[in-house]
Amino acid sequence: MESVCAGNRTGGSNPLASAMPKNRCSILLRDKMNEEIIQIKGLTKRYGYGDTESFALKDFDLTIRRGEFIMIMGPSGCGKTTLLNIIGLLDRATSGEYILNGEDVAGISSRRKARLRAKKIGFIFQNYNLIQDLSVLENVALPLVYINRPRTVRLKNASDTLRRFHLQEREYYLPSQLSGGQQQRVAIARAIVSDPEIILADEPTGNLDSRASIAVMEELKSIHEEGNTIIMVTHNPALTVYATRVINMLDGQINTDIKTVADQNLPQKIEVKRTRGKAKRSRKSNKGRKN
Ligand code: ADP
Ligand code: MG
Repeated sequence: MESVCAGNRTGGSNPLASAMPKNRCSILLRDKMNEEIIQIKGLTKRYGYGDTESFALKDFDLTIRRGEFIMIMGPSGCGKTTLLNIIGLLDRATSGEYILNGEDVAGISSRRKARLRAKKIGFIFQNYNLIQDLSVLENVALPLVYINRPRTVRLKNASDTLRRFHLQEREYYLPSQLSGGQQQRVAIARAIVSDPEIILADEPTGNLDSRASIAVMEELKSIHEEGNTIIMVTHNPALTVYATRVINMLDGQINTDIKTVADQNLPQKIEVKRTRGKAKRSRKSNKGRKN
């Protein structure tokens, strides 16, 4: 931990630090660069018993560092979605160890799991999974219900996030009134509105044409550049140019695992926390988000 008052560790001057009176400086920077955010050991997911027994994941090991952009590829049925769902606390393994942010999540209560999920993880799905009866704004605001934000704050944060995606004029549309690419960008806005640090995306461009795919990938790229960790499943090898690591799975196991960017070159996420007064977070590069 390091105080902002002592200067930004990356060398530049920190606007938050200079804006604050020195004797009241209560903001701490936490640089968690390269921290192992996910540790999975010997994970197995079994379906059925006896004759019908099959394994979606088998003795699976994986360590993920903060700031990685991982693309997971592999043939249909090799366990990609199962892995993502377990990482996202939507599913549980039959056996094995899963440590998320230093916490063993295997045995925690479902209430704690739901809270962790709401705070730490944003999901993006192939078919967008927007609620059709809710407006775009209400869809994006939804995750903030689970972390108990008041309605006015929810709508303000959702609107700010939609602005980042140039969708603020569509706030009161229903999802069905948007194109597929726009719906997926709304889904990305929903995934990041609660400021999670892990984004899970299961074939997010699977239903999109190449132009809309690139728009979605550029959004994910900018979210990654802010130091967030992204784990994305794709069938499209062309998209691996965005990744810092490409994992190929086969039959519930890792077949190949190739890092294209060294750990020390991963983008840094800087968390700013007030130790006194109201909690506030900021990003090194927030690009108009939540300002
Ligand atoms: P992928 O996303 O790589 O296509 P999945 O993770 O969806 O693969 O599935 C991995 C394997 O687990 C597949 O063989 C699939 O049939 C099996 N599977 C997934 N969900 C279930 C389930 N609820 N019951 C039985 N088998 C399942
Ligand atoms: Mg799948």
